[in-house]
Amino acid sequence: MPDTYLNPPSSAFMDKLAAIVGDKGMVTDPQAVAFHSTDWRGISVGRAAAVVKPATVEEVSAIVKLCHENNVKVVPQGGITGLMVAGVPVRDGDEVVVSMARMNRILDVNPGAYTMTVEAGVVLQTIQETAISHDRYFPISLGAQGSCMIGGNLSTNAGGATVLHYGNTRNMVLGLEVVLPDGRVWNGLRALKKDNTGYDLKDLFVGAEGTLGIITKAVIKIFPKAKDVATGWIAIPNPQAAFDLLAEARMASGDTVTSCELIHGIGLEGVLKYVPGLQRPLADKHEWQLLMEWSSTRPAAADGSGSMAERMEGFLAEAFERGQALDATIAQSEAQAKNMWAIREGHAEASRRDVNPSCSFDISVAVHHIPDFIERCNAACVAAVPGIRPKPMGHMGDGNLHYSFGAPDHVTTRADFAPMVEKLDRIVHDMVTDIAGSISAEHGIGSVKLLELEHNRSPVELDIMRAIKKALDPKGIMNPGKVIRVDANEPVVQGSTIR
Ligand SMILES: Cc1cc2nc3c(=O)[nH]c(=O)nc-3n(C[C@H](O)[C@H](O)[C@H](O)COP(=O)(O)OP(=O)(O)OC[C@H]3O[C@@H](n4cnc5c(N)ncnc54)[C@H](O)[C@@H]3O)c2cc1C
Repeated sequence: MPDTYLNPPSSAFMDKLAAIVGDKGMVTDPQAVAFHSTDWRGISVGRAAAVVKPATVEEVSAIVKLCHENNVKVVPQGGITGLMVAGVPVRDGDEVVVSMARMNRILDVNPGAYTMTVEAGVVLQTIQETAISHDRYFPISLGAQGSCMIGGNLSTNAGGATVLHYGNTRNMVLGLEVVLPDGRVWNGLRALKKDNTGYDLKDLFVGAEGTLGIITKAVIKIFPKAKDVATGWIAIPNPQAAFDLLAEARMASGDTVTSCELIHGIGLEGVLKYVPGLQRPLADKHEWQLLMEWSSTRPAAADGSGSMAERMEGFLAEAFERGQALDATIAQSEAQAKNMWAIREGHAEASRRDVNPSCSFDISVAVHHIPDFIERCNAACVAAVPGIRPKPMGHMGDGNLHYSFGAPDHVTTRADFAPMVEKLDRIVHDMVTDIAGSISAEHGIGSVKLLELEHNRSPVELDIMRAIKKALDPKGIMNPGKVIRVDANEPVVQGSTIR
């Protein structure tokens, strides 16, 4: 990181900022400022000029207005669990981080209407627990749910393990309140399922990664809570079996498959090694496994057709006969189900703790392309980088793979791994684009994939994105260096996917 600040805001600006948020909202401790400048993997690319924690939409509006008037850049921030280096500064000392951590109130729960109104800084797990306390369910669920905030989930359009059945965070939103880059407040906090009044403005801000404004409140959907859940861990011969099993399970379960996660043996071993307290679900080691969940909102046997677990058992018995399943276990207790999910969710943590570098591509392809894509892409990557260890895994049910690679054994530093990752980048992303897939399924673009987006999306798509950015943020102050460059000469400070 350079030693000099680019263009630090004046002390008069800082005084005005402090006056808006008061002592409670101004972060001054250098360690805390450093914390808010560092991403989840410990990567610090830039540093903040100031970090503020507003408590109301009025404060957010006043902060952004002040920044707009003084051409000071703004970085909206949630729980800093994003993986694309998007929620932290990438410039040196001329950006104000606006952390939403103090705007953490649940404003309304309406179980009858199946809605909840929340401030942007509410932690995802709090939303899940609040829904459950009303016998309802909020389906977005991620490994980072104890820290990430709903504003961050909305801004990254987070996915997770239930997208197959419920859709991603975009599907959860009914209305938003947003502070625009000039400080004005757009109040779109409506709880409408039908609203065909021209352009769908809320959808602009979902997935925008804070480049178009700061989300301050949201009306989100909640759902009936499942009363009968079967969680199965199934060893399978290959990814084709995963596709076939999922297709048949949707029919056999009455279309109640809520998750279907593909897990590679190398990834599983890494989690068992680095995340303490987890049990291997099956006695033998297998190259491929599926974690599948079926859920019903009716209690077991209420419909006279047996529990979900019984139905899954019958389904698996047939799958064994067809050779689609090699071994399987169905969780007999909540603890066993939690263990299976902890293995699935422990992959990112295991990579972070692993002393050997690894990288991961968050890509999606049409579900039916997955088996062939894995085979071709593995072969191409191993040929280009001998010794690389592919361990593709992810959300089989919605076509989203977290295509991960362990570095060859002799490569022990991120710096040595970087040129290899560049090669893999090209191979993986070009193959994805060739079959009309996406180079970012759920993690976003951030600073990491900004140039990849320019490489992989058409000039028409990029023009539309630039036009939207220019229209809403003509001064370019809102989360600069993330998602899209308006000017092709704008320098890029790139983050990295290497862990
Ligand atoms: C262990 C682990 C597991 C994960 N699993 C998944 C997964 O399964 N699926 C998935 O999709 N992601 C996953 N993620 C990524 C991450 O958790 C999500 O991207 C999450 O939605 C980020 O939320 P956050 O509050 O931490 O946002 P941050 O990281 O703070 O910010 C992310 C982006 O949103 C912007 N932003 C934040 N709040 C606001 C706001 N109020 N208004 C406007 N912009 C805002 C930031 O500027 C930034 O661009 C995982 C991460 C970890 C560490």
